[in-house]
Amino acid sequence: MTGITTTDLVKRFEDVTAVGGVDLNVRDGEFLVLVGPSGCGKSTTLRLLAGLESPTEGSIEIADEVVTTVSPAARDVAMVFQNYALYPHMTARENMTFGLGTATEFTDDEVTERVADAAEILDIEDLLDRTPSALSGGEQQRVAIGRALVRDPEVFLMDEPLSNLDAKLRVQMRAELAELHEQLRTTTLYVTHDQVEAMTLGDRVAVMYDGEIQQVAPPQRLYDAPATRFVAEFIGSPGMNTVEGMLERRGDSVCVTWDENSVPLPSPVPDPVTSHVGDRVVLGLRPEDLSQEMNGPLSMDITVTEPLGDSLLTRGTVGDTEMEVSLPPRSAVEVGDVLSLTADPERLHLFDPEAGGAFY
Ligand code: ATP
Repeated sequence: MTGITTTDLVKRFEDVTAVGGVDLNVRDGEFLVLVGPSGCGKSTTLRLLAGLESPTEGSIEIADEVVTTVSPAARDVAMVFQNYALYPHMTARENMTFGLGTATEFTDDEVTERVADAAEILDIEDLLDRTPSALSGGEQQRVAIGRALVRDPEVFLMDEPLSNLDAKLRVQMRAELAELHEQLRTTTLYVTHDQVEAMTLGDRVAVMYDGEIQQVAPPQRLYDAPATRFVAEFIGSPGMNTVEGMLERRGDSVCVTWDENSVPLPSPVPDPVTSHVGDRVVLGLRPEDLSQEMNGPLSMDITVTEPLGDSLLTRGTVGDTEMEVSLPPRSAVEVGDVLSLTADPERLHLFDPEAGGAFY
């Protein structure tokens, strides 16, 4: 089995804890995306797996072998970097064969065959004799991926490999990477800060924040059932609206109330909610789970409208809280209007205001 397992992995740089006790499991053949905001510890985690940093605490297993103190060269991993890291004076072919190290393991024929196979997969056969300066960004990135492919490693580690490409090329290369993984099924850990990339590429996605993993789940589950307030706000574009309120009983029903607004929960009151009645809570509402309704329980003063073509994204304040609502395209609303809204009671989320964990 060629999975990756980290156990209580910690990396401190003097007083900065970059990685704060990470237990991560990438399954055999899986494409797992590690996503999170800048500075949350993603690259450090990847560099620890590659052996480019040594952990302060914890252990790393790759393919059922403990490699915590094994040198980078002796780990059967290939890394693809954001800046491609190609040698400018070498041709694409030389850059790719350089990845085979001392080459004593392989005969010349094997090296030629491996490069030919990788070049065919990546459609760069005609570019092999060019140096990087004669290649476009997308072509350079293909060569960088080719250099990883020729090694036929147990594991690919990719650190924001598409972030230097323009938007259109990024989408194209994203599809190519997905296809490549479909074909090779090599265990892959892919780091990005782009949640769209994470959601579209990952079999599962691990969301990292402040050195810790908040949740690991398939993309749709992450969207539908975020385990923490951070995941709820981070995943989705725009992310989930969150607002602090009180969980109050009103007759037979239970509502979250703030300022003059109140959002009822489904009836009968769901079990996990009952014990929190009377508490302060954080209510989470996705922009598409709010809709216009005459005399609805929420009113929003519209401050911005953004026609996105397939929807009209509307921003405004509900009480003192900023919110975003996704309305049908061509809805007749303008900045300055007061919008009357209702929330889908089946799609509400509740979080603990201090710890941030979801309890409904
Ligand atoms: P980005 O998306 O911006 O690349 P990241 O999530 O990959 O961010 P890391 O590069 O892993 O984040 O950095 C995590 C934290 O550790 C940051 O606060 C960073 O400043 C710090 N850090 C990383 N490398 C070092 C180092 N060599 N020395 C000191 N601090 C470091």
